[in-house]
Amino acid sequence: VIEFKKEVVRDDVFWGYNRRRILDRLRLDGKVAYVTGGGQGIGRAFAHALGEAGAKVAVVDLVLAKAEAVVCELVLKGIKSVALAADVSKPEDVQRIVDTIVARWGTIHIACNNAGINLNSASEDTSLEEWDKTFNVNLRGLFLCCQAAGRIMLNQGYGKIINTASMASLIVPHPQKQLAYNTSKAGVVKLTQTLGTEWIDRGVKVNCISPGIVDTPLIRSKELQPLVRRWLGDIPAGRLAQVTDLQAAVVYLASEASDYMTGHNLVIEGGQSLW
Ligand code: NAD
Repeated sequence: VIEFKKEVVRDDVFWGYNRRRILDRLRLDGKVAYVTGGGQGIGRAFAHALGEAGAKVAVVDLVLAKAEAVVCELVLKGIKSVALAADVSKPEDVQRIVDTIVARWGTIHIACNNAGINLNSASEDTSLEEWDKTFNVNLRGLFLCCQAAGRIMLNQGYGKIINTASMASLIVPHPQKQLAYNTSKAGVVKLTQTLGTEWIDRGVKVNCISPGIVDTPLIRSKELQPLVRRWLGDIPAGRLAQVTDLQAAVVYLASEASDYMTGHNLVIEGGQSLW
């Protein structure tokens, strides 16, 4: 027999144990976050969103100059921020950024593993080099980051990991030429589900966001334009996603408002995966 707590029927705690107002529960004041691939596109928007919600943000990117440019934007908004260069597919780089953040700000509460690449080629022409490169960044890199940040979080009994997957983990946008990408992103979802269930009882929540087609440099290459034009007709929302369409989701998953959520794949694609 389940014994429900008597006090939940009392008016003052009627809404459960957490009586903080909802917008306060979305605040990230005092929290330490990092965002990989934070130098442009979705990662840049995530860094702004987390910083605006109150977190200190380490902007991590393969290209230091890009990370530094974003840090300049954040600092202008009064957000405490640092730029770090790293290739997420290299264990020594990942450990270095985690150690640097901990040395600077004491810990890590929010890990936003967002760096990803998409090398498009027909499946029959996909070289082993392309396959490995895609998996090294999209899946191996994400695993390394989850593990290194996860160890800090498990030690302190608290952490929020938000991985960037893709709508392509669920559906195969047609006509498409991204076998390695789609497969790696399906792996991101499974990794998220597995870690999410494994670590939840130790206070670490792991979720992912699956954007649809987002207007960022990733999809602006000349070769992709015919595909993007075709996909545009498949989006019930009638437009590509903008990075701003994803910002509230990362704040929600980074905040205590989503404390009961783990292993979830939050799909934000203007309805594209539904038809
Ligand atoms: P983007 O190419 O605009 O930005 C990616 C950033 O990651 C760049 O600044 C790049 O320098 C950095 N980066 C690349 N390899 C790296 C590495 N090995 N280590 C560290 N940083 C690295 O991409 P985006 O569109 O902002 O995409 C971000 C994430 O969102 C990716 O994981 C991508 O797969 C995913 N996504 C994008 C879309 C889209 O339509 N744009 C849709 C679904 C999912």
